[in-house]
Amino acid sequence: MDKQLNFAPCGYLTLNDSGFIVEINETMLRLLGYSLHELEGQHIHQILPSASRSFYQLYFFPMIRLQNKVEEMFFTFMTKDGQNISVLLNALRNEREGEVFNDCACLPMKNRFEYEQSILAAKRETESRNLMKRKQIAELDDLRRELEFKQNELLTLNKTLMDLAITDGLTGLSNRRFLQDRLSSYFTDLDKRSIQLAFLLIDIDFFKNINDTFGHLTGDNVLRKLALLLKEESGKEDVAARYGGEEFAFILPHCSKTEALRIAERIRFRVEHADWNTYNITISIGIAVKLPGDTEISLQSRADQALYSSKNNGRNQISFGRQE
Ligand code: GH3
Ligand code: MG
Ligand code: MG
Repeated sequence: MDKQLNFAPCGYLTLNDSGFIVEINETMLRLLGYSLHELEGQHIHQILPSASRSFYQLYFFPMIRLQNKVEEMFFTFMTKDGQNISVLLNALRNEREGEVFNDCACLPMKNRFEYEQSILAAKRETESRNLMKRKQIAELDDLRRELEFKQNELLTLNKTLMDLAITDGLTGLSNRRFLQDRLSSYFTDLDKRSIQLAFLLIDIDFFKNINDTFGHLTGDNVLRKLALLLKEESGKEDVAARYGGEEFAFILPHCSKTEALRIAERIRFRVEHADWNTYNITISIGIAVKLPGDTEISLQSRADQALYSSKNNGRNQISFGRQE
């Protein structure tokens, strides 16, 4: 073998058809860790791991006999100290002096394999990171949904609490706090201060008798039923509220004295003629209409005085505040 081939930058060996090594260059010997006399004339099996032996018998040999060549075949050799070495193998079947030889060039793939392995490892790492990221995004999504759900629950709860804070528990009408807030807005809000307003105070006549005769539960039912009637009578901008005990109040915005009287009379009439089972219910009403210089206190106090007059004059009737 000439010097150039002996030290070529790839391994080279020649096999005869029986699989014996006829020639092997120094590069290949160094790759495998053998010296020339240890391999020359030996069977190829000596430098093959057992898996490669069957590969050699079943693929390499039949293929080179059939096609006279083998191109870019991955092949694994075994070094003297038992290490596997992967190579890319090209082989040609040549005839020299009437004899057939299988000339093989072997390019070690160690670096390339390591490179491929590191690419594969990086790919696996990226995939597992992506998977983790997707999992974290899904978890975040779950958390976001849970947060939204809780926020909605909180909003609903807040709304319920706000409703409860301005609602009378027994009758479902607005409570006194809401009524006072709304009334005060007609004295403080610039855009509301000039609005004509009527205020009604309504008190059930001799209500104590109902409680004393039929019991408090019946009394409660009377309060509820009266509340329903008042609700029916209140318009969109009006406020019908429970003022306290058996007293109710009405704010009637944009309402003149005549109109207030008409509404109050309709309510009084409906209560008097409603079906209250075995007993009769009547109400007394005091009306005050907002005057220049009024405060929310003076307006309520005039309505209270008017209610007092209705009571004193025999009940089941309507009176106006003194200046009206
Ligand atoms: P008047 O015609 O002078 O208004 O007589 P009245 O009996 O209606 O007035 P009084 O102030 O003497 O009695 C009011 C009664 O209302 C006394 C109280 O027990 C009753 N009352 C107040 N709040 C409630 C309630 O929530 N439920 C029931 N059942 N009764 C109530
Ligand atoms: Mg009363
Ligand atoms: Mg009363």
